[in-house]
Amino acid sequence: MTSTSRRRLLLAGATVLLSGCSGSGIPPLTEVRVPGTCRTPDSLVEFSTLGGATLGYEVGRTSTSYKADPRFVELLEAWAEDWSPMSGLGAMTTIWSYGAYVDKCDSFHASGRAFDIAEVEHEGGSISCRYDVWGPGSAVQNRDYWRLAASLHLHFGYTLTHLYDEAHHNHIHVDNAVSGWGTPTFSPRSRVQVQLVQAACRDVFGADVEISGSYDEQTQSALRTIQASLGITRPLGDADGWREFLRLTASAT
Ligand SMILES: [Zn+2]
Repeated sequence: MTSTSRRRLLLAGATVLLSGCSGSGIPPLTEVRVPGTCRTPDSLVEFSTLGGATLGYEVGRTSTSYKADPRFVELLEAWAEDWSPMSGLGAMTTIWSYGAYVDKCDSFHASGRAFDIAEVEHEGGSISCRYDVWGPGSAVQNRDYWRLAASLHLHFGYTLTHLYDEAHHNHIHVDNAVSGWGTPTFSPRSRVQVQLVQAACRDVFGADVEISGSYDEQTQSALRTIQASLGITRPLGDADGWREFLRLTASAT
């Protein structure tokens, strides 16, 4: 096997998603799976709020606390602080989740560096990630779903939506496996980022874009028009250009 093909194989393995969490009545938790990799969290803290919003477990809808790496909780808090004013829906009141830290191999949940969002309730409305419940959804449901996803992409390079696979039809998964502790940047080779761009063009800005998952000409053409109308002069490949596009997507109402 050549080193190139081996690398491709490793990359393919690293991006395969499988359901994992077992237990009666508890739905499977989706995770980034690197075969044979068991992770141990550096440290864990318990948190029961984010951005002042109460946390709850989507299954059974009960208030709960979660555990995560303290630095990952800081990333989540930074997202929450960012998102509330952009949402146009007022302060967040409750975030329904499927979990953060889970003691299971092969997942960034096992590092306490992942979080699954099912719904975000605000004082002035709610945004559901339960595509399994509302899909294919109204124009507003889809717009708000992708606005929320864009806000998460600002902070987490690996944000998985319902376009990724069926396991993500009931939540958006975020982890910092790709972006680490820094600020995410755009890669045209990132399927999840390209899917966000395409869905934003289609469902937030109303462009006729096919969700192909690849950064193709029809996507770039629609994007150029949208960027021009928004007054964005920097390309997505520029760190500030990526953030500007995401911020204007997240705050588009
Ligand atoms: Zn997850």
